[in-house]
Amino acid sequence: MKDHYQLLIIGGGPAGLAAATIASSKGVTCALLDEQPAPGGQIYRSIESVPEKRAEKLGTEYLRGKELASAFRACEAEYFPETRVWSLSSQREVGVLHKGKSKIISADQILVASGAMERPVPFPGWTLPGVMQAGAGQILFKSSGIVPSDGVVLAGSGPLLLLLAWQYMNVGVEIKAILDVTPLSNHLLALPKLPRALLAHHYLTKGLIYQRDLKRAGVNTKIGASLLQAEGDDCLDTIRYRHFGREHTIKTDLLLTHFGVIPQIALTQAVGCKHQWDDSQQCWRPEHDEWGSTSIDGIIVAGDGAGINGARSAEHAGRLAGLQALFALGVISQIERDQQSIEDRQWMKDERHIRPFLEAYFAVPQTMLATTNNETIICRCEEITAGQIRKAVESGHQDSNHVKFLTRCGMGACQGRQCSNAVAHIVADSGGQAISEQSHFRGRPPVTPLTLMQLADLNEEESL
Ligand SMILES: Cc1cc2nc3c(=O)[nH]c(=O)nc-3n(C[C@H](O)[C@H](O)[C@H](O)COP(=O)(O)OP(=O)(O)OC[C@H]3O[C@@H](n4cnc5c(N)ncnc54)[C@H](O)[C@@H]3O)c2cc1C
Repeated sequence: MKDHYQLLIIGGGPAGLAAATIASSKGVTCALLDEQPAPGGQIYRSIESVPEKRAEKLGTEYLRGKELASAFRACEAEYFPETRVWSLSSQREVGVLHKGKSKIISADQILVASGAMERPVPFPGWTLPGVMQAGAGQILFKSSGIVPSDGVVLAGSGPLLLLLAWQYMNVGVEIKAILDVTPLSNHLLALPKLPRALLAHHYLTKGLIYQRDLKRAGVNTKIGASLLQAEGDDCLDTIRYRHFGREHTIKTDLLLTHFGVIPQIALTQAVGCKHQWDDSQQCWRPEHDEWGSTSIDGIIVAGDGAGINGARSAEHAGRLAGLQALFALGVISQIERDQQSIEDRQWMKDERHIRPFLEAYFAVPQTMLATTNNETIICRCEEITAGQIRKAVESGHQDSNHVKFLTRCGMGACQGRQCSNAVAHIVADSGGQAISEQSHFRGRPPVTPLTLMQLADLNEEESL
């Protein structure tokens, strides 16, 4: 790994791969750093090594990743897998952990294409062993072919929940139930956005096919389930929920939940980019222009890390960001950038027709985001409950960072990645105020866990 590159790309999903392929074709020194062992990111995880039979079960959308990964492999960009970025500064210096050693490298332009993470939504019992996020289930399936052997209950809201149910059904996993917590009122709220969504009808068709196949397979789907609770002494034993005014229970030792995805903003926060709360996507995202340029010179964002728009949009946004980096480096002119991006910009526009409908339809209910009961653990690292957070707000601390100092929520190993959103929702709800940029925990490096030994390894003189 060199000490300096013209372009450094963080993230090997569709956005990062597309950006690296286009930028390196113009001869700039370019490196792509990614914590995964192979290219593909979340959606195309293990795409190069997955057995053909498993790939087919994962669906045609997954197979699209093959082309992207092979174009990237053929390009001139240097590739560093299993490399974690733990800091980013406005001087465009990047702290990386590569082969167990820390190093600081720099670049003229940096593209953050760090993708999305599943939205953590605390509910009673969510920390019990046996309760996992659906994405984790999908990661095990994609990377190792591991699927639940004794059945599973899927609960939550969002397209990924439906997709995973369909993928599991394809390989014969027993789906005991799908508990869809999407409120029925969302259907009405989403209706006015349907005409525009029809312009991207392939997404709607896909969703309807999944639903049809699951119904034909006899999968029990409870639409409008509420008051989800996971129960058990040492591990999950029972799920309790309400449906049309009646309480129900299901015996199971595995519950996979999903409540949509949100941008991974740890790095853009650490560098100090301006962020905004996106009401429709119920998350923060870095502010950026149509090329991905952020409020900080030389820091560009693309893909789901810039705002949730899906894998195909991420690929187009990656190419736009790659062209923008080439323009900023003086390799291509503005006219060349604009001309070479016409198709990608059009594709992105077309892809986005579906978003307002999806966002309204799958919006997570406020009852789950902000008004969970006082006993529910919100910060699982430090075991801080919703009640403790509300008490801090009642004593006059109406800001997430004050609540953090007072209660220690967000100070554990995950650095608040798991509880930041939930704390902001509870603080805003208890204090009767709206969520803003200030509601987020301040981001500081290291953004991912780093041992003292790894930090001490850093020989600044040598690496700068
Ligand atoms: C768990 C999960 C599963 C998903 N599955 C699907 C699916 O099956 N189908 C679908 O349509 N959509 C899926 N999505 C949504 C999908 O991820 C995105 O739409 C798409 O992958 C976005 O592409 P991207 O390039 O922006 O980011 P990603 O594909 O997420 O790629 C980002 C990459 O950056 C890496 N990274 C992040 N931070 C760092 C760091 N600090 N240092 C080094 N590397 C870093 C990540 O490990 C990842 O490899 C999933 C999302 C999640 C969270």
